[in-house]
Amino acid sequence: MTKRALVCGAGISGLSAGICLSRMGWDVTVFERDSELRTAGAGLNLWPNGVRVLTALGLGRRYAEIASSLDYYRTFSSSGEVIAVDDLRDWNERYGASLSGVYRRDLSKILVDALGPDRLRLGWQVTGVEQGDTVVCRFANGEIAEGDLLVGADGINSVVRTSIFGQHTFSSDGFVRWRGLFDLADVDVDPLSEAEVWGQDGHFGYLPIGNGRAYWFAAADGITQDTEAVVAHFNGWKGSPVPGLIDATERSSIIRSELQDFVRPLPHWSKGRVTLAGDAAHPMLPGMAQGANQALEDIQALGTALDSYDDVEAALQVYEQVRIPLVAPIVQYSRSLFDFDDQNELTSGHRNPLFDRYNRFVERRDV
Ligand SMILES: Cc1cc2nc3c(=O)[nH]c(=O)nc-3n(C[C@H](O)[C@H](O)[C@H](O)COP(=O)(O)OP(=O)(O)OC[C@H]3O[C@@H](n4cnc5c(N)ncnc54)[C@H](O)[C@@H]3O)c2cc1C
Repeated sequence: MTKRALVCGAGISGLSAGICLSRMGWDVTVFERDSELRTAGAGLNLWPNGVRVLTALGLGRRYAEIASSLDYYRTFSSSGEVIAVDDLRDWNERYGASLSGVYRRDLSKILVDALGPDRLRLGWQVTGVEQGDTVVCRFANGEIAEGDLLVGADGINSVVRTSIFGQHTFSSDGFVRWRGLFDLADVDVDPLSEAEVWGQDGHFGYLPIGNGRAYWFAAADGITQDTEAVVAHFNGWKGSPVPGLIDATERSSIIRSELQDFVRPLPHWSKGRVTLAGDAAHPMLPGMAQGANQALEDIQALGTALDSYDDVEAALQVYEQVRIPLVAPIVQYSRSLFDFDDQNELTSGHRNPLFDRYNRFVERRDV
């Protein structure tokens, strides 16, 4: 008999879970709270580990069409001094894919197309979960759905997570990141490079995200509320590319995000027929730009476990045993990369520390 999967949330985790399970022959429905897909957040860095999962889901060609593939990662000081140039041109050979940038809206569209819009229910907010021989979801619109498996892919404030494990404690550092969009045609930067700019009082990064677009992300010490203060702050980084990028940014595209992870990792992700994936399971700071990449890795591991075990509950136990120890150091190092003081101690000629961490903790290779 065909097994039925309920997926809560239509972000990157939920949509890719839906695609993966439907390709494995499951009858899948993805339930999304919002009446249209939120694509806030502008751009996204996908690393080879995430791109390899998209390729395994059959989306490699579509992804290559919408994304920017990046050959270099440049690191500057806020006065424009070159600190590091990391050459990534051998990454296809080394890791099976390039570092890349993508517009979130474009990625979401190819995921929905691959899922099939008939498997997606918009405006269905999960409010409660019960389980026994099957799992039942209740929705704010009064509907009920029943399945053999529920994947909670409903993001950092997951209702599925609190339904099965109760409240978990978030960090409270008050970190904020600012993001904006610009057109590459309006600026003088290398369209094949991602770059970071390090200052004593903040941090700025930018990358192309396909179709002539690019986006920046930034943190400015002590500025957590005021967009104009952020603009004024980074306009002071003369000698670096930053003032030119700020100038090319439509003010209305600048968004502010509060960042949180857990004080301690969740000890379990699965209970009975219910499991978690992506930010619902492991919210992380974007220091290593791995949140969405790890979400994709979750889905691949979940698919492998469900393919290997007929018993859903046994498969979910294996899934969490595989994934929890792999994600934990990435969450930890994503946080440590928010210690900008360490970065400012580096002088010209160093590699950006991001790459050793990627190699060791994401690709899990010896240095
Ligand atoms: C500033 C910033 C920069 C980042 N940059 C990167 C990067 O470059 N690379 C990277 O890999 N990661 C990055 N991340 C992390 C990445 O954005 C997340 O890890 C990723 O989007 C998580 O996807 P998700 O599907 O698990 O959760 P979400 O994207 O949060 O999706 C959850 C979905 O569930 C829905 N939902 C919520 N509650 C319910 C409910 N009760 N019922 C039904 N639906 C519900 C929501 O509406 C939403 O659509 C960044 C994050 C931030 C904040």
